[in-house]
Amino acid sequence: MPAACQLIVSFHDLHPGSRVQCDRFLAMCRECGVRRTTLLVVPRWHGAPPCDEDREFAAWLRERAEEGHEICLHAYLHRAEAVTGNAVQRAMGKHYTAGEGEFYQIDEAEAATRLREGLRIVRDGCGVPVWGFTAPAWLLSDGGRAALRKLGFHYTTRWGQVELLQSETAAAVSIPEEPVIDRSYSPACHPRRSGLRPDSPATAKEQPGGACPQASSTAMAGPSPGRLQASSYNGHGCRGRNIAAPVLVWSTRAAWRRVCSRSWVRLWGAWKRRSSVLRVAVHPVDFAYPSIEASVREAIARNLCGREAACYRDLLPEGTPPLGGGK
Ligand SMILES: [Zn+2]
Repeated sequence: MPAACQLIVSFHDLHPGSRVQCDRFLAMCRECGVRRTTLLVVPRWHGAPPCDEDREFAAWLRERAEEGHEICLHAYLHRAEAVTGNAVQRAMGKHYTAGEGEFYQIDEAEAATRLREGLRIVRDGCGVPVWGFTAPAWLLSDGGRAALRKLGFHYTTRWGQVELLQSETAAAVSIPEEPVIDRSYSPACHPRRSGLRPDSPATAKEQPGGACPQASSTAMAGPSPGRLQASSYNGHGCRGRNIAAPVLVWSTRAAWRRVCSRSWVRLWGAWKRRSSVLRVAVHPVDFAYPSIEASVREAIARNLCGREAACYRDLLPEGTPPLGGGK
């Protein structure tokens, strides 16, 4: 486990239709000195043909993996068929996720089906190794999490945290953990779309003073005791670990959001500068707005200072094989 503080820069919603924006993202990263990123691939964006059927895209993706970028599975369709439940849950599905919270209310069986098919397309079809999964808008149901564990995914990402899913992986990681959090949190606490609110109450506290700490700091102090869960939450005796990883992300859906996002990212990055792991999450739509693109570039360059660029898999024990084995 590297001792230095890490900056994980990721590109979300990658599919054949967003490859142009991803190329711009990668060029920006190179110019900033970031040569390792994580690319979040959607196997069938909004029901499009499987991305591995685009052989040019598959070859391009393999080249990126061979360069050292990590490929992370990101949903299956990235579209929710329907959101059920009370008024708050329905509003979440419609407004917060913009109808894309595919894994927000999914049950374990359906999640397993989509994850297997996603692996068949991305890992087997495109021929790239996969270690982890990220749900759209970071909204993952308990059933989805259980399916990830059973299929052997090593990690999933959440708002403010990276969750190590396998007991053996979690046990071998030397970064101080955050206790596993009660899953009863409301997704409304997660401002992925608004880009305005800070991490959920469960996110790490910062230690006072000084620059970016090493992993032994108190930067990963846990949430309030009332929110802790003493044992595993998958019902199979498997206990994961959470690594605090604040994320900088932009909201572009309205002019006022774009203005506020730029300020929020600057302030939030400064506030979280002592976190051992900091993340920058970039979306294709960010490149539709020059002001946002400039803000992304500035955030990467500024927050790389004192950190090493890393992929999510760098948080795992050295030599952790991808799903299905291999390099
Ligand atoms: Zn997404």
